[in-house]
Amino acid sequence: MADNHHKVVIIGSGPAGWTAAIYTARANLSPLVIQGTQPGGQLTITTDVENYPGFPEGIMGPELMEKFQAQAERFGTRVVYDTVNEVDLSKRPFQIMADEGTYTADTLIIATGASAKWIGLESEQRLMGHGVSSCATCDGAFFRGKEVIVVGGGDTAMEEANFLTRFCSKVVVVHRRDTLRASKIMQDRAFANPKIEFIWDAAVEDIIGAKETGVTAVKLKHLKTGEVTEMPTQGVFVAIGHKPNTDIFAGKLELHPNGYLKVAPGTVSTNVEGVFGCGDVIDHHYRQAITAAGTGCMAAIDAERYLEAQEAHLASV
Ligand code: NAP
Repeated sequence: MADNHHKVVIIGSGPAGWTAAIYTARANLSPLVIQGTQPGGQLTITTDVENYPGFPEGIMGPELMEKFQAQAERFGTRVVYDTVNEVDLSKRPFQIMADEGTYTADTLIIATGASAKWIGLESEQRLMGHGVSSCATCDGAFFRGKEVIVVGGGDTAMEEANFLTRFCSKVVVVHRRDTLRASKIMQDRAFANPKIEFIWDAAVEDIIGAKETGVTAVKLKHLKTGEVTEMPTQGVFVAIGHKPNTDIFAGKLELHPNGYLKVAPGTVSTNVEGVFGCGDVIDHHYRQAITAAGTGCMAAIDAERYLEAQEAHLASV
């Protein structure tokens, strides 16, 4: 086989991908991790991770991912910075077409995670990087002394809002309902923060600004009255959830109607034998680093057993 052939190829390098790599590397399977466009995954754009067991003082997301990677590499994981564009799962070995070439694999572990969702406004795309962002950790420092809004009512929105108060003079959370989806502890923190205000039952209808000036205002639609008002602001942080990164698997693997990769209940097996899914790409419910790591471990063990069964079968014919 060519040296771009691997027994195990793992696409994605968040907690799920690295955990799958640690386990398959320790099983002497020399896995290849294809890192993708956001090496380290979503944790690289968060700050303090306070709920990952084993770190009683908390740990920064990027540092946690560096530790995962170091642990995977220690046991012989090969890592490439490459982006997969297409897969062919109809033949064996599986073919994985990426920017830098084609890889082949006896078993494939999909850990491509999920990406931030956007409201879907033309102005949002046009002003991205010019006052519109989905990552307070990445961009918060550019808004020192400014007033910004955060769109969303989940944990991400509360986390972003709290983090932004380190820099911003005022943070207004704009939520489409009158109750938050966020966990109680995150809600309490946001309510207790004197720099955070809330606008309930409202949607951002348009973002006003230009690349030269940045964002200057938003148009808010008040959903109970239908009234549209303009509110001056200098930044818009969109924190309305995530979309699974499964575009390249459409038509190749079974997906749920919401785009998440389908696995047999209680397992990490996709509908193609030898292809496993783990982490946020299969999980629209828990979406935690620890649950992603857990399913990464499951995928690695199942991949190992699948390979053993294949070898036993070949030996018997
Ligand atoms: P989420 O829980 O799905 O919340 C998304 C929020 O955005 C909801 O409030 C939703 O409104 C709103 N929304 C969705 N689409 C919208 C649209 N088109 N326009 C306006 N608002 C929209 O997503 P998340 O906050 O990213 O959290 C995802 C998961 O990660 C959760 O399980 C969360 O617990 C976890 N997480 C944990 C932490 C932590 O513990 N430190 C931090 C971040 C995330 P509705 O409420 O009306 O649906």
